Amino acid sequence: MTTPPLTRDRFIERYGRYFDASRVDAIRKLNYLLIEARGEGPYVYDTEGRRYLDLWNVGGIHSLGHRNPVVVAAMQEAMRGEDFGSLFYFSEAKARLAETLAKTGPPGLEVTFPAVTGSEAIDQAIKIARGATGRSEILHGNHGYHGVTGFALSMMAPGEMRDWAEPLIPDFRAVEYGSIAALERAISERTAAVVLEPVRTDYDGRAPEPGYFAAARKLCDATGAKLIADEVVTGMGRLGHLWGMQRWGVSPDMLVTAKGFSGGLFPMAGVLMRSGTLDFWGENPYRIISSYAWSNVGAVVSRTAIEETLRLLPQANAMGDRLDTVVNDLAAKYPALVRSVRRTGLLWALDFRDEMAGALFVIGMFQRGVIVVASSQNLAIPKLYPSLVCGDEQIAELAQKADETLASLS
Ligand code: PMP
Repeated sequence: MTTPPLTRDRFIERYGRYFDASRVDAIRKLNYLLIEARGEGPYVYDTEGRRYLDLWNVGGIHSLGHRNPVVVAAMQEAMRGEDFGSLFYFSEAKARLAETLAKTGPPGLEVTFPAVTGSEAIDQAIKIARGATGRSEILHGNHGYHGVTGFALSMMAPGEMRDWAEPLIPDFRAVEYGSIAALERAISERTAAVVLEPVRTDYDGRAPEPGYFAAARKLCDATGAKLIADEVVTGMGRLGHLWGMQRWGVSPDMLVTAKGFSGGLFPMAGVLMRSGTLDFWGENPYRIISSYAWSNVGAVVSRTAIEETLRLLPQANAMGDRLDTVVNDLAAKYPALVRSVRRTGLLWALDFRDEMAGALFVIGMFQRGVIVVASSQNLAIPKLYPSLVCGDEQIAELAQKADETLASLS
């Protein structure tokens, strides 16, 4: 007897109670429930055989396409001999990954501190900045999303994403993202770090004015604060370069990577930093111990993911230019719905005139088999994070289904 497919209804009936009921219910009510069966390239398939064009890719985890064959093959090969290894020891797999990061990262960032998740890596970067400077104040761009652990959550804008967990960690202060004047007013010799994303991905997809990061760099140099770039989303090719800060031509003091660094297959994260940053630890190298930080298998996956990203970027950037035309044509056709389109590299933010229209667009696209998301902090601005393997077929599919969805909303 063959088991029946795990339909959405069967999933809810049979397994729904094993997950957070409010989440299952909320997703079901939005008709946004996907029971994943498999992923392949730019697509995800559900258990009922429906195909979805994935233009979210969990914000970049699947930037190389689902189950990228080069990364899968490297992982399979690694698993013939490697395992997790130990956080105390080194290995060739980890050494080669660290060397690759040093050679492909912004100039001056030579050392990588391993971590597992983006939130964890952000927490480590902030603690290290506090330790290295002996100061406590952390300035961060307003409406950023930096994760859900203690230090990371302390940067979340007030509201339902964080208020329930209060009190959080003291001495964090939001500054207006993109404003040099605001940063200049706030920064001082009390500031341990300034935490910024190269583009404010979760809220509005806004890129700062040219010169913003160069100015932030100068202000940090003048005050001795560390400039921390959160590249969990903007790294690994998203802004058209391997790292977003390379687009702005500025080297931060620390750069945090996760998501796409996993190659879509193995949880991996890291904090790149300048040599000597950890000197304040003195003789005790084990002030931060994270048992899972950098598996040997994962290290092979991440190194392959970097190489594959660099290989695919030229064609992906060309694809991005074609996709941009389609997105702008759609925005021009539906001006009553879409106010503007913001593009930076391979990231698009569609600025809808209101939150309801943005949310209905996301749901309408899902019902037509295209995954896009609005940000957790701003439903009016759905975003597109296409994988680097998208081509003309996927662009045509987006054009047609977005046109249908927008027509149905007007
Ligand atoms: N920084 C940014 C910009 C993010 O988008 C996220 C996750 N969405 C994080 C940090 C946290 O990463 P993780 O979910 O791996 O903890």
